[in-house]
Amino acid sequence: MSDGEPRRVSGREGADAVSRLAVRSPVDGRTVGSVAATPPSRVEDLVARGRAAQPGWSAVGFDARARRLLDLRAWIVRERGRLIRTMCDEGGKTYEDALLEVVVLCQAIGFWARRAERYLRPRRSWARQPLLAGRRLEVRYVPRGVVGVIAPWNYPLVLGLGDALPALMAGNATVIKPSDETPLSTALIVEEGFRAAGIPPDVCLVAQGGAEVGRAVVDAVDMIMFTGSTPVGREVAERAGRRLIPASVELGGKDPMIVLADADLERAANCAVYYGMGNAGQTCQAVERVYVEAAVYDEFVRRVTDKAARLRMGAPAGPGSVDIGPLARPGQREVVSEHVRAAVAAGARTPVGGDADGSFHAPTVILDPDPSASCMRDETFGPVLPIVKVRDAEEAIALANDSRYGLNSSVFTRDVRRGEAIARRIEAGASCINDACANFLEIGAPFGGWKDSGLGGRNGAEGIRKYCRQQTILTARVGLRRDPNMFPYRARVTRLLERALTIAYGRRS
Ligand code: NAD
Repeated sequence: MSDGEPRRVSGREGADAVSRLAVRSPVDGRTVGSVAATPPSRVEDLVARGRAAQPGWSAVGFDARARRLLDLRAWIVRERGRLIRTMCDEGGKTYEDALLEVVVLCQAIGFWARRAERYLRPRRSWARQPLLAGRRLEVRYVPRGVVGVIAPWNYPLVLGLGDALPALMAGNATVIKPSDETPLSTALIVEEGFRAAGIPPDVCLVAQGGAEVGRAVVDAVDMIMFTGSTPVGREVAERAGRRLIPASVELGGKDPMIVLADADLERAANCAVYYGMGNAGQTCQAVERVYVEAAVYDEFVRRVTDKAARLRMGAPAGPGSVDIGPLARPGQREVVSEHVRAAVAAGARTPVGGDADGSFHAPTVILDPDPSASCMRDETFGPVLPIVKVRDAEEAIALANDSRYGLNSSVFTRDVRRGEAIARRIEAGASCINDACANFLEIGAPFGGWKDSGLGGRNGAEGIRKYCRQQTILTARVGLRRDPNMFPYRARVTRLLERALTIAYGRRS
């Protein structure tokens, strides 16, 4: 969780003073940039600017908006070097992890530019209710106005601008509030990329700061799209509820992986290490717990341990330089170390890793931690992979579901039908067979958590419709002066209606 307000603001004091939010490298603490902090008291003005710009943006239509966003995509591809460097600097990402964000963002722009109009096309039909015979219905989607997007630090672009894209394509204005840990990449795209793409300046605005600025955004916008931790998501949803504005909250996870005895162990081990430790394990849907059938446990552990031991950890530089960077936040290393320490103190073993150095935490495998250990129950958010031996698939499913989270999950088996049957029994918003996390890349498929992992969701048709109010328009034929159910009530007509009721609905079939 973001722990304070404002942690790294420097500069002049006073209500209207423009202070700067300094950003430090997670690698060595040096200042890598700064942005102007938005005083919470100014957020309302920012939203008012968005509200004034929104009708014009909505009026230009889908094609014009798509063209602008595709121009933005071309700018992103041209300037990817700067964007990647900025994400590596502010969040300690490896080159490849930062590049992945650029790739996913570019895919998302193309997807929403092409599909938005189809998803939001008015739906027309004839009324089916006999009393409404002959009426036409139209259900249309109307942009909500100004959508606030509050983003976490672990994927600053995909979960900030990425969530603003469908809102923009639907004709809304947006105010993005990036994490105060990673404000630079969003500022770069919005200040330079949007301008270069010819997008009107107030259509996508940025509010920079921490929790107080986030609260001010929730208090001013017409809808809130939040991604972050479960406790903060709860607060955001409550705050939005008081204002009766919709909130989509995408929260934490503790994703289980199940490895059955007939699995392709090499693929399972590669997926466990990559999806458990990529981005230094700082991914909401990272593999955070692995349950392996007893028959293949030793072999699976051997493969995972070998692979984890070969990961290169260090300060991110150019392509291919390191596999694991630092943990992005000062407090995160303590959380990760504490999870490992507590598991070991309770008798678990760590055949690889276990130690920390500055802001780096070594890739770590934990064998057979107690189910009550923090590394099995709470989000670790680090390059740590606990592996547990289970009797059979039934025990694996029971343990996988014994969690307050339900974001993503995975099952590895050569028997794909059995894998799918198991996946359907896992209490999570998504499950992959012989894969993990990959469903997130399919923007046409809904992604959202169950239980404490969230409320709402992103992607798919609902991923853009949620940014709209729905309006139903009913049109009656001209010419019919009075419907049978209208005043004055007459016994004969009422009896006829009752007869019709018995005939239509009085029998089961
Ligand atoms: P966080 O909850 O601390 O902060 C998220 C954002 O909310 C930040 O921009 C922060 O400044 C802002 N914020 C903090 N307090 C606020 C408040 N009271 N009101 C309004 N805004 C407030 O989360 P984080 O540490 O930045 O991100 C990591 C968390 O995000 C992890 O739990 C991770 O699992 C989760 N996450 C979820 C998804 C998903 O899609 N489900 C994706 C990525 C990350």
